[in-house]
Amino acid sequence: MRSRYVAGMASPDPLAPLRSRPDRAGVFSDFDGTLSAIVMDAHEAEPLPGVADALGALVGRYARVGVVSGRPAAFLVAHLGGRGIALSGLYGLEHVGPDDAIAVDDEVERWRPVVTAAADRAEADGWPPEGVERKGLSVTLHFRGRPERDAAARAWAEAESARTGLKVLAAKQSYELQPPVDADKGTALADLARGLDAVCFVGDDLGDLPAFDALDRMARDGAAVVRIGVASAEAPPELLRRSDLVVEGPAGALDLLRSL
Ligand SMILES: [Mg+2]
Repeated sequence: MRSRYVAGMASPDPLAPLRSRPDRAGVFSDFDGTLSAIVMDAHEAEPLPGVADALGALVGRYARVGVVSGRPAAFLVAHLGGRGIALSGLYGLEHVGPDDAIAVDDEVERWRPVVTAAADRAEADGWPPEGVERKGLSVTLHFRGRPERDAAARAWAEAESARTGLKVLAAKQSYELQPPVDADKGTALADLARGLDAVCFVGDDLGDLPAFDALDRMARDGAAVVRIGVASAEAPPELLRRSDLVVEGPAGALDLLRSL
């Protein structure tokens, strides 16, 4: 952890490369745990009040503003659509254009029935339906509030991966099965940020590390990058260690967006 963000007191301002040339800069963020409070039931997550407006206000000034999430794109459109915010869903498997239309590559689409069958088997194997999040092109097995089920969830996901060819992604108190394509928050961020001179990404979880990796590659190519971590009781130490700035919870992330 290099510094903690305190509005108006960071010195020198690590966000200066973005603020000085917003027309050449991009502002990107994760959703869950970053712009929304973590909730027990994944279906109940909502952005903090003011988040959509704060992002929308940046759209007019920055070259690109986007949210890159493990959520289905339709969920992101429902909460953040209609404002010109670039939205990438399911860890980059779904893309949302300026008209809020959702696009999926053919290579990914053909895995949809395999994912549905895996979700059906999870429930048939006794996982409670509320812990099996069906996202269309991926399925997430949640064990929030049941830490003793971590090992069983992992073992189930790995066995299902071996059976189907789907890949396993470990996330916060969950395991997700996804199509085995080269897509993660890093590839999604690299697509959205192509050509920009300065880029920041705000994240709170292990699934955000590929986005930090993408920022590392952009930095090697000469871009100014800012890795922003969201601190919480569950924040992975590696994410905070790699962060140039750390904000306190989603409220801190919202303050940061408003400060841009
Ligand atoms: Mg998150």
